[in-house]
Amino acid sequence: MIGCYLAMVYMLRRHDQCFLLWSVACFVFVAGGCAAGIRTYVDMPLLTYLLADVLLLLSPALVVAGLVLFLRGQLSARAKQQAALLLTLFLLPLAMLYQVSNASTALTSFSIAVLFIYAIVLLKNARLTPVFPVYILQLFFAVHASLMVLQVILVLPLIGEEHRTFSLPSLQWVLLGHVLLTTSTGLMLPLLSFSLTENQLLRLTELDDLTQLLNRREFFKRANLALLHSRRQQHSVVVLMIDLDHFKQINDQWGHAIGDLALKKVADLLKVGLRTSDLIGRLGGEEFAVLMPNTSAEQAALIGQRLCERIAHHAWEIEARPVKLTVSVGGASCVAALQDLKQLLADADNALYQAKAQGRNRIVFDSEFEKQT
Ligand code: GH3
Ligand code: MG
Ligand code: MG
Repeated sequence: MIGCYLAMVYMLRRHDQCFLLWSVACFVFVAGGCAAGIRTYVDMPLLTYLLADVLLLLSPALVVAGLVLFLRGQLSARAKQQAALLLTLFLLPLAMLYQVSNASTALTSFSIAVLFIYAIVLLKNARLTPVFPVYILQLFFAVHASLMVLQVILVLPLIGEEHRTFSLPSLQWVLLGHVLLTTSTGLMLPLLSFSLTENQLLRLTELDDLTQLLNRREFFKRANLALLHSRRQQHSVVVLMIDLDHFKQINDQWGHAIGDLALKKVADLLKVGLRTSDLIGRLGGEEFAVLMPNTSAEQAALIGQRLCERIAHHAWEIEARPVKLTVSVGGASCVAALQDLKQLLADADNALYQAKAQGRNRIVFDSEFEKQT
């Protein structure tokens, strides 16, 4: 049923081939379980041991292969090679062990445990958000790996005594555990995929493509909320408008592509130079805005001044070109956040105009407070 469910998800999302692999993994698991289940009734070791073990190992291998495909954007080329090597290596030793049935079972269980632990590591290294479905999936893989290790412990004393196999009740419990965990994992995988996709789409609508700062709409949305919050808390707020100096000349001299990289670099320097509580947005072109909650004009002026210096003294070299860049900053503050955002931005814009008029590469505050680099 879970196999059919994943196949249906694949029909809806044909670009996500991981669902096809996960669906096939379920059917392969059922086939392997059936082949292993008839061991006590049929004396055909090629079918009940070799083929069963290969199928039972192939199933988690397909789950991990699907996971690698799913995470391909987040994995390095080296991690992908390691995954391919691991998946190939694990299927090889089985062919040699099928006559030694209990040893083959132990090896299969051990290999499955390693594959599940590898899946946990893959998910951890991918650093996905939101983390909740990732943790749940890791928990399922961890429990499944533990079950496999338990199976190895049960079967180890039986190696060499091939007339003895698992007692039927233990086999039934292990199979039940397999089925439950495979079902839970199968249900969790689409949830993980959908929540990640939703998260990515949300980020796309909130962030500016080039700089990965908040886009204009998102900046206004969050800044209005921050202002409301500051008003309730009676905190003062500062808004900065930041504009690159003579940026047109950079484009004219080095080309638009270098100009884009310079914009990106300035955005990175803004992220480093400002606090995590500050909202930074790209309002358009080469113009940025910052909202600093719970900040006095004096504090903001100091931060803004350091920002100007940091950008002006940065060892600017973009694709081996000595690009020289400075920014001008206009600031506006209000006590207890009593002004609205539009007014604050207009005041900051006024101050920015003054900063440009006074020679650029400096911060000017709209009100009585004024500071120059
Ligand atoms: P000022 O110091 O007075 O601000 O001078 P400026 O040259 O920076 O200002 P102006 O408004 O004359 O020019 C802005 C330039 O920014 C013109 C435009 O081509 C460039 N620009 C705007 N957006 C982008 C962008 O996304 N990428 C690149 N490369 N350039 C951009
Ligand atoms: Mg400019
Ligand atoms: Mg401008």
